[in-house]
Amino acid sequence: MATENLSAFLYRKRDKPPRCDIVLENRPIHEPGDKEVLLQMHSVGICGSDVHMWMDAHIGDYAIKNPVVSGHEAAGKVLKCGKNVTHLKAGDKVAIEPFYPLSADEYCKTGRYNLCNHYYFCSCPPDHGTLSRFYTHQADYCYRLPNNLSYEEGALIEPLSVAIHACRRAKLTLGHMVLICGAGPIGLLSLLVAKAMGASQVIITDLSQNRLHLATTLGADHVINVEQNKSPQETAMHIEQLLGGMPDRTIECTGAESALQTGIYATKSGGCLALVGLGADTANVPLVNAAVREVDIVGVMRYCNTYPTAIQMLASGQVNVKPLVTHRFPLEKAEEAFHVARAGEGIKVMIKCDPNDQNP
Ligand code: NAD
Ligand code: ZN
Repeated sequence: MATENLSAFLYRKRDKPPRCDIVLENRPIHEPGDKEVLLQMHSVGICGSDVHMWMDAHIGDYAIKNPVVSGHEAAGKVLKCGKNVTHLKAGDKVAIEPFYPLSADEYCKTGRYNLCNHYYFCSCPPDHGTLSRFYTHQADYCYRLPNNLSYEEGALIEPLSVAIHACRRAKLTLGHMVLICGAGPIGLLSLLVAKAMGASQVIITDLSQNRLHLATTLGADHVINVEQNKSPQETAMHIEQLLGGMPDRTIECTGAESALQTGIYATKSGGCLALVGLGADTANVPLVNAAVREVDIVGVMRYCNTYPTAIQMLASGQVNVKPLVTHRFPLEKAEEAFHVARAGEGIKVMIKCDPNDQNP
């Protein structure tokens, strides 16, 4: 087996963006512990938060002090299993759930392990991420992919999970009319999940015509290019006109204050808005409007219990995430890949970690 483990580290370097350099270095290959698996990494998607960490050297309270390996949307092949691992074997293709709890607190006991405060999260300092040739992870958070799924589909299960969790939190169901704010990867995946869960019509907003065009290709019934000179109330009325009624559910995937305001005004009385987008710590929103119309606002913290569902949805063809991949770069060109992701030209940029297999 290879002994070199090329990895893409973020090194904190300066006080203005990009605050980090992306440095390719070999890191030791960790032998799997009893409950772990050693993986040969194949495909790793770049997420907005990876770009954010590169630019700002922190996300919230998590700051880069020592160099940390980036990447958390990942899939790879099992090379070696720890002695207590029974559900996987060498050669299995797996999707990696990058977040796992380190304790069994009340949240874990009630199935909401995403709310656990004591956890490992790939690429969140000091925890190393997956942008490596080889990486060791908890076997319980590696999910075997059926043969008809590619590694890239496996890597996309991470953001797809956010969409599944958001639609579950919003209690989205058959026949619902749905508004999605933002046609980035999370908004587009929410569109696919909402349709698969039985939404009758989905309307999606963005500022980018290219992204809205892709949304139409992926099945959006209506798109709105949010005009700067329209107030949130006016946009909400436009949404109602296009749908022929107010949306039952809104999935906010921008983090922009104006989109959040639009989302509240647009949502039908008694409906629900799921808040996925993470913007400023505080936002000015028409809370009383939501209160007197019983529009529930629910938070979304990543996901939990979504990987098995996502695998079934992908394997059965209920959702097709392949069109989201717009760029591919070998691991050696990680920095170039981050620049493309930052420019927002495409949707999902994939980094290919296996030098002998750069296929999807
Ligand atoms: P992205 O930046 O690629 O997409 C956001 C999209 O919103 C862009 O296409 C942008 O043009 C559009 N937009 C900006 N302002 C808008 C407005 N006023 N109206 C309509 N559209 C507008 O990001 P993404 O990767 O798709 O993620 C979306 C959001 O979800 C981000 O805020 C991200 O931080 C957040 N997120 C949250 C969780 C969670 O667990 N809650 C997980 C992942 C991502
Ligand atoms: Zn992410």
